[in-house]
Amino acid sequence: MKMSKLFVQTLREFPSDAEVISHKMLARAGYIRKLTSGVYNYLPLMWRVLKKVENIVREEMDRAGAQELLMPFVQPKELWEESGRWDVYGKELMRMKDRHDRIMCLGPTHEEVITSIARDGLKSYKQLPVNLYQIQSKFRDEVRPRYGLLRGREFIMKDAYSFDIDEAGLDKEYENMARAYKRIFERCGLDTKMVQSDSGAIGGSVSHEFMVITDTDAGENDVFYCNDCDYSANSNHAISKLPPAVVDGKDYFNETKVIDTPNTHSIEELSKFLNIPDTLILKTLVYIVDKKPVLALIRADKAVEETKLMNAAGGIDIRIASSAEIAELMTEKGFDAVPGFIGPKGMDGIKIIADETVKDMKNFVVGINETDKHLVGANISDLNLPSDVQYTDIRLVQAGELCPQCGKPLFVTKGIEVGNIFKLGTKYSKPMNAVYLDKNGKSHPYVMGCYGIGISRTAAAAVEAHYDEHGIKWPISIAPYHVVIVPVNIQDELQMKTAEKMYEELLKAGVEVVLDDRDERAGVKFKDADLIGFPYRVTVGKTITEGLVEYKTRATGEVETVTPETAVEHLIEIVKNIK
Ligand code: ATP
Ligand code: MG
Repeated sequence: MKMSKLFVQTLREFPSDAEVISHKMLARAGYIRKLTSGVYNYLPLMWRVLKKVENIVREEMDRAGAQELLMPFVQPKELWEESGRWDVYGKELMRMKDRHDRIMCLGPTHEEVITSIARDGLKSYKQLPVNLYQIQSKFRDEVRPRYGLLRGREFIMKDAYSFDIDEAGLDKEYENMARAYKRIFERCGLDTKMVQSDSGAIGGSVSHEFMVITDTDAGENDVFYCNDCDYSANSNHAISKLPPAVVDGKDYFNETKVIDTPNTHSIEELSKFLNIPDTLILKTLVYIVDKKPVLALIRADKAVEETKLMNAAGGIDIRIASSAEIAELMTEKGFDAVPGFIGPKGMDGIKIIADETVKDMKNFVVGINETDKHLVGANISDLNLPSDVQYTDIRLVQAGELCPQCGKPLFVTKGIEVGNIFKLGTKYSKPMNAVYLDKNGKSHPYVMGCYGIGISRTAAAAVEAHYDEHGIKWPISIAPYHVVIVPVNIQDELQMKTAEKMYEELLKAGVEVVLDDRDERAGVKFKDADLIGFPYRVTVGKTITEGLVEYKTRATGEVETVTPETAVEHLIEIVKNIK
């Protein structure tokens, strides 16, 4: 490809709406162009990168025994009613009507469609196991599309679905996919951590995510991990052991009584006023889960993990209540307390979920829905709570708490989820009556797994992992081109002839090469080369009169002076060895 013909326009500045590196770089280097919120054009350079990621994914999925197919992007409502997800999927599902008033949606994922395909085609145990996958655009009307390709509304995904006769088969395929994923991300030049995670809207019991670890904002997930053993988990799923703490207030309170605690609106103010550690305060938080209030009880030095709370409440949507909603709830229950003094007592009819560590608290302090008052020296039995209070883990792990496996301190880091694997079990096959017949002619629902990789997110994550202040440093396996040849002065006959000869030789040998034949200053060409992120740059300048060119490796910045023949040989060898 000649640079003069390459469809690319680099920008002087980063676009003003870009917050993270990959979005800034990909937009400025001319890879993507926004069409509308969360929807991007993949321009020729980007498309080359995406196709490379896709091909790596395809090769490894095929190698792992999966078969590729392609399902429709538009799906009928009826199928989603069969699985029971039409009513629970939420606003991310883009719903629409066709000209005959039939209700459809844009595919955010394809469990329903694949299960309907399997149901029609996989009738006997003899046909199982099967793993089917596709690579396709998905649409999710995300609440907050942001960070360019990392969280788009339309994005490209590889989604695979496995069908087995039993759990043991699923376990085996799950391991097989985990190994394939490891190879895929390694080949894409990405270091990933496989972490335990929550199963979310897709459902199922066991799931893992593949995270690209980063210290930037682009990592939307907090990952807790142990350095002494292999434990690692997304914050929405992480658990920990707590170091010892004062959870019995017997040294502070010798009777149970209501006392005045004026102006103690925060935990800090309250613990200061009473001169007690915050581990002796039972905090009550009001959340709205699927439009209904839920009270969360937790030791005041800890925070609630919202996904855990939402799952415990059996909901699909959660947010903290506004002060108006809290006021409304107080009125409804006949109280007039302001936030800071809310408590679980007298809240019958409202769902109450307590963190399991609350059970260990004794002689503690708790709000009683009276402004400027608290109950001290209290125990759970003093609160007359309804019998259906749930005690479960709703606690957000904090760094420094102890590993649930080995007891050593946990660390936290940010991660970008590039892929995930789920054990679905019979979550879809059962309601959709997707069954096979066993040896004895008895029918059973398939035991399913599903396995996703964000193709476009993986490409963007690679930029987050490989860049410097000058631009992108693509891993060679997914770079749009392998090398750029830059003649410093295109009017110079020897420079141009040498550059063109190398270009022809490389092309012939299957190296993906760009010849920067533009009549521009060398500085401009170098800047563009760094920004676009070609893994190698060969510069043909004045030293060509001595038979030498400059050979630069983008990843390391290393520069060598070699003959054109050596440069060509090197490059052919490198490209031959791309995994
Ligand atoms: P997230 O928690 O980041 O929203 P998810 O759990 O919804 O992801 P899945 O539904 O399992 O993800 O989708 C599989 C893969 O698709 C994810 O691992 C991710 O790489 C990619 N993906 C999901 N949502 C988006 C998005 N909005 N933009 C780009 N890629 C996405
Ligand atoms: Mg999502």
